[in-house]
Amino acid sequence: MAEPQERDGLSTIAYTLHGNRYLNITSRCTLRCGFCPKFNGSWEVRQYELRLRNEPSVDEIVAAVGSVREFREIVFCGLGEPTRRLDVLLEVARRLRGRGVRIRLNTDGLANLIHGRDVTPDFAGVIDAVSISMNAHKEDIYLRHCRPRHEHAFESMLEFARCVQKHVPEVMMTAIDGLAGVDIEECRRIAEEIGAGFRRRMLDVVG
Ligand code: SF4
Repeated sequence: MAEPQERDGLSTIAYTLHGNRYLNITSRCTLRCGFCPKFNGSWEVRQYELRLRNEPSVDEIVAAVGSVREFREIVFCGLGEPTRRLDVLLEVARRLRGRGVRIRLNTDGLANLIHGRDVTPDFAGVIDAVSISMNAHKEDIYLRHCRPRHEHAFESMLEFARCVQKHVPEVMMTAIDGLAGVDIEECRRIAEEIGAGFRRRMLDVVG
């Protein structure tokens, strides 16, 4: 089994959970979620230290993956938002997918907002599945828990979900069970209305 790939003796670029290889390509986020470990004094997920002192290059990330044949899928998911490094994300995904492995992106769904354009056509033929953190069924609850750095984040996240379905075969939206005020069934209804799948997540469980 592939080992976690550490950098600077501290930060993990790639780690294995549930038979998948997870890639941690940035520590930067567009949100400041109140439930996030890093805003609660810890950069650890399971035993992995995910704080990156320097952002890894494409070559470093690909090298950290190891043999793709060992994994069901490669998942971009760290304690940072992968689409903040859109070019790097896409280049790594292209190279790995070319070796025959499935690619999933876990995202806050704010890439269109921060890049100022619809980036979802860039995912066509590169990303196989996208999981979007909806996190709340309405804006005031979303703002309370996710504390976005930009205006119009909630509506932009929902619009991203609509757009990305035209270019990526599998789109899932998620919300966390147990966050105050979040109506999970209403989140499920919104996802279905958009045409996406829905998954109820548990707090602090990566996947
Ligand atoms: S988007 Fe994810 S990594 Fe970023 S603050 Fe929220 S929970 Fe943490």
